[in-house]
Amino acid sequence: MDDTESLWTAAAQLLRAQVSDAVWLSTFNDVAVVPANGAMVLAVPSSAARERLEGRYLPMVHDALAEVGGGHIELRLEVRTAPSERTLEPLPARPSTTERSGPRAEAHNVDRTGEVLNQAYTFENFVVGTSNRFAHAAALGVAETPARAYNPLFIYSVPGLGKTHLLHAIGHYVRQNYPLQMVRYVTAETFLNDYIDAVRTGTTPNLRKRYREVDVLLIDDIQVIERSEGLQEEFFHTFNSLHGANKQIVISSDRTPDAMQTLEDRLRGRFRWGLITDIQPPDIETRIAILRNKSERDNTLIAPEVLEFIATHVTSNIRELEGALIRIAAYQSLNRVPVTVPLAERVLADLLNQGSGRMLTPAAMLELIAGYFGFTVEALTSKSRQRPLVSARQVGMYVFRELTDLSYPAIARLFGKQDHTTVIHAVDKISRLMRERQQVYDQVTELSARIKSGR
Ligand code: ADP
Ligand code: MG
Repeated sequence: MDDTESLWTAAAQLLRAQVSDAVWLSTFNDVAVVPANGAMVLAVPSSAARERLEGRYLPMVHDALAEVGGGHIELRLEVRTAPSERTLEPLPARPSTTERSGPRAEAHNVDRTGEVLNQAYTFENFVVGTSNRFAHAAALGVAETPARAYNPLFIYSVPGLGKTHLLHAIGHYVRQNYPLQMVRYVTAETFLNDYIDAVRTGTTPNLRKRYREVDVLLIDDIQVIERSEGLQEEFFHTFNSLHGANKQIVISSDRTPDAMQTLEDRLRGRFRWGLITDIQPPDIETRIAILRNKSERDNTLIAPEVLEFIATHVTSNIRELEGALIRIAAYQSLNRVPVTVPLAERVLADLLNQGSGRMLTPAAMLELIAGYFGFTVEALTSKSRQRPLVSARQVGMYVFRELTDLSYPAIARLFGKQDHTTVIHAVDKISRLMRERQQVYDQVTELSARIKSGR
């Protein structure tokens, strides 16, 4: 075997372990080594394959070569359309997720990975439009080749435009395609609470380990860090440790680093090391596409002019778009009539009413919700699992999600829950129940109308 050929075979083994099956098959599987004097010439079957390799994976290839002792070698790519007889045999498949073992693999299934990812927040379910195209491409780039595309990736926008969705999508993608990489998703709020706990109990070394041993750290809503100098200090060192070890960091925020006033300059500087990108409010076409996509996924048939009606009236927030769609779907299913535009106008009256504009504070909302069901706030936010309390709580959580920009963990804490999956579960459950039970539908619409009008 020619020297370069054995080098490539060894490097290819490393690459095989790092990329997904799809990437392997589309990009690396048909690469062949062509004998050349000293240099390594890789023949690829098409110019598309060459572009893919050059555009995305070249640094990875160089690293792999360096690792197997070919760091010095000159690398050239050539397009050869005729299939070469030397095509590499496909390497044995990577061990599948279920067969994985060992402490790192197990780590995916236990709590140390941070917060649970929402199953619906995948790249497949993310509708791309002009307003989010760049952020989407950057997120996908980071997911495909962690720590090689942009590091850190910093995504900012006003609430409800898909930041959390993209962070979760990166998490899902990396877990699926790089089963050995440890992904940790947390909201900065959780990080802050972990930090406060660790300081209080004298367990900061554990905290550091948990946040620094990951391969991909996804931190949502970083603006929270402004509240705590201690956390800024902690995060600064976490950042350095991860970045220095070539681990991927992805950050979301409701504003640019420059607009974070009490942010330390050295952190602001770090955030500029990678790519900073925003998401803009979606244009009407994208809003319609998102509604169509979501109604298809939910298997509900809604008249196109009704989708257009929603898209015309709910303009600045995708979470609100989804809330309106859930309402219409529920109304249709409860009443067994197709919703028309005039009907949609009535069904969505409370949601579309920007009205008095005076939205209640979270505490006042909690009080109103508790009172509506005849409970005290203490009972509503207690650990009691009594039936009527549990359903009141779930409706309450749904209404918070529908009307406010609060994150799942923030809503969980308001209701006295540690685990924000309770909220994800409640929101899912209530959006389903609204279609089946008039009572639940009425509770949601009535509460939302009261909260919107501030009484
Ligand atoms: P943010 O974190 O920016 O406040 P989220 O990621 O929570 O926003 O998005 C709000 C809702 O809108 C989520 O349910 C999310 O799935 C949905 N969403 C946002 N952007 C898109 C998109 N481009 N395609 C489909 N759904 C989207
Ligand atoms: Mg978010």
